[in-house]
This record gives sequence, structure tokens and C-alpha cells, in this order.
Amino acid sequence: MKCPGYCCSYPNIHVKPKDIKRLAKHFDLSKEEAHKRFTKKGYKEEGQKKAPRVLRHQKEEHFGSICRFFDTDERRCTVYEARPEICRDFPGRKRCGYYEFLKFEREAQEDPDFIAVTNNND
Ligand code: SF4
Repeated sequence: MKCPGYCCSYPNIHVKPKDIKRLAKHFDLSKEEAHKRFTKKGYKEEGQKKAPRVLRHQKEEHFGSICRFFDTDERRCTVYEARPEICRDFPGRKRCGYYEFLKFEREAQEDPDFIAVTNNND
């Protein structure tokens, strides 16, 4: 397994109305239904006036929980074409810091399947 989907385990993945519209179209649902099924109220981060809508999660063995759209067996996004803008932009640079660290740890521990975890849920 290459990428275990660490960033998809972030608890507060913001979605905008246009992201919900895209997901609704992808699943042939109304915006209201997609809003209810796929998102929930997140928590306010510094500088935010109100709590954002965020992607709902599912339970997951390594990180505690992960985005509901993440395939936990295949370790991939199941809505790649319809994923929210924030997922498209992330990590905002060419290299992923987590993956660089993971490669280092896998080599150091001589375990190609090692998954480095931090607890996102505290
Ligand atoms: S929508 Fe896809 S890319 Fe975005 S957090 Fe969920 S699984 Fe990851």
C-alpha cells in the first residue's frame, strides 16, 4: 500500500455549497439529501465566525475514523471525480509531508506496510 489516506482522516474537512452540489449530482440526489447524508456540522477553527459543514466520517482501524467516502480496503477515494475542492487542492504543494515521513519510517523499520499514526480524534 502506498498512501494509507492520512489526510482523509482529518476530522474537519470543509465542504462548500458547490461541493455538495457536485456530490449530489454524482449520486443523483437532491442537494438537501446530499447535505444531510454526506455532511455534518464541524467545529470552528481559529478566525472562523461559524462552524463549517464538514464531511461525515466512518470508523477506521488505523486513524480511528476517516472520511465516509474513503474505501478502507482499497485505501482510495471512492468519489475522486466528485471530491470537494479542498481535497483537490490539498496538500497545496508538490510533496506530501506525511508521505515523506512514512517513507522514512518504513525504511527505518524495514516494514513496507507500516502506517504512521497520530490520533486526530483527541
Ligand atoms: S472526499 Fe475523497 S479525497 Fe476527500 S477526504 Fe474523502 S476520501 Fe479523501
